[in-house]
Amino acid sequence: MNAETIGSARREELGAALARVRSRIAEATATAGRADEPELVVVTKYFPASDVLHLASLGVTDVGENREQEAGPKAAEVASLVPQLRWHFIGQLQSNKANRVARFAHAVHSVDRPGLVSALAKGVRAAAEGVGREEPLECYLQVDLRTEASGTEDPAAPRGGALPGDIAMLADAVASHDELRLRGLMAVAPLGEDPVPAFARLAELSQRLRVDHPEAGEISAGMSSDLEAAVAAGATRLRIGSDVLGPRPPLR
Ligand SMILES: *Cc1c(COP(=O)(O)O)cnc(C)c1O
Repeated sequence: MNAETIGSARREELGAALARVRSRIAEATATAGRADEPELVVVTKYFPASDVLHLASLGVTDVGENREQEAGPKAAEVASLVPQLRWHFIGQLQSNKANRVARFAHAVHSVDRPGLVSALAKGVRAAAEGVGREEPLECYLQVDLRTEASGTEDPAAPRGGALPGDIAMLADAVASHDELRLRGLMAVAPLGEDPVPAFARLAELSQRLRVDHPEAGEISAGMSSDLEAAVAAGATRLRIGSDVLGPRPPLR
């Protein structure tokens, strides 16, 4: 097989997986009796820039990444080919990487502490001067949904997030910066727990947030294994990786 044949085989494979995920989303939306279909963010972490290009050619508008050192170069590699593609940063983020993320990210879903809020605002200002960024950075506050009953944390996949009691303070912090735009909440269902009650807690926190921040009504929740539960609970952004791209290659 030559490179072109391999490329088109991969594109077909991604197209078929994407169609399956889109039909699951449509079905879950109908089952939930919702008129609005959640938006899909395809999580491309661990997969090459060539897959990002295939996905864009298949109509994907939003991709997600969880590590700056992987996402930055990948975004730069495809920027001139797919300038309209929106990059969502969904992983734990150190404040000293905020400047680099603000150069390419449309949104950060993992805002979880005040120090990161000010670092991101500064990063957006620097990106406005450095690379002509014009848009504010969309921010989702990541909530830690674990309770005392939740399973112990998997060290290979730290879940992170702010405590529910800190959301109001963080929301005010984001809203105080013109460089940032508060969109809503994000969460990962706790390991070893039924996602249904966890996403119900998230929906309740979202309602509470909207009392003071009516503009922050988005809910980013739902991964490959629990997208149906997330759609039923009102998620408006789904972050789907392995069911589109395939199982993750072993950690490098
Ligand atoms: C990897 C990742 C996803 C996608 O998970 P899949 O199970 O591959 O669909 C979603 N959200 C976050 C925060 C992730 O790190």
